Amino acid sequence: MDPLTHALIGATIGELSPKRIKNRRVKGAIAGMIPDLFNLLTYFYLGIRAGHSIPIAKPEDYYSNTWIIDHWTWMPWEITHSFLFWALIVVPIIFYFKQPLLIAIAYLSHLILDLPSHTGIWSSKPFYPFNYQFEGWFDAWAWDFETIISVATIPLVLWLICAYLRENDYWFLRWPSEQNFGHAHKKSPSIQE
Ligand SMILES: [Zn+2]
Repeated sequence: MDPLTHALIGATIGELSPKRIKNRRVKGAIAGMIPDLFNLLTYFYLGIRAGHSIPIAKPEDYYSNTWIIDHWTWMPWEITHSFLFWALIVVPIIFYFKQPLLIAIAYLSHLILDLPSHTGIWSSKPFYPFNYQFEGWFDAWAWDFETIISVATIPLVLWLICAYLRENDYWFLRWPSEQNFGHAHKKSPSIQE
């Protein structure tokens, strides 16, 4: 998907996470975008090759330079988008550094969202380094700015709904650690009485 959708879905995962986690929405949003971070290499490299004044490749540069998928700058994208990389590298790192699980889930959401949104030679290889490619249905990575903004209203509304439900403490989205939240202080004096 596009970076904005990834960030908003990540933020929604943060929203649904336990409230005791500091900056949980920001952590979710960043983790949701991380897998594409190393892909910037390709954008710069192809942008320079295409001779743009701002060296960032455009979707048409990709379409007219399909050899890029064999270039070394493309490889980090395939690595970071592999479910095997997620399970064997990302998750252990998160556990080792005692980071919240929401980071792993937000990262995973990125890989899942990218499956339908990459087609043809641009398809994800979910089990990279194994070469199996998942054929998607549309190319969100090649969307223009206007399309990105309009499509992002869907995850934005989803986030706002979740934020409303969490803010109003709806029981079905409440974590065990949040039970009786705010009542603990009121109860303790009565026990002493
Ligand atoms: Zn991606």
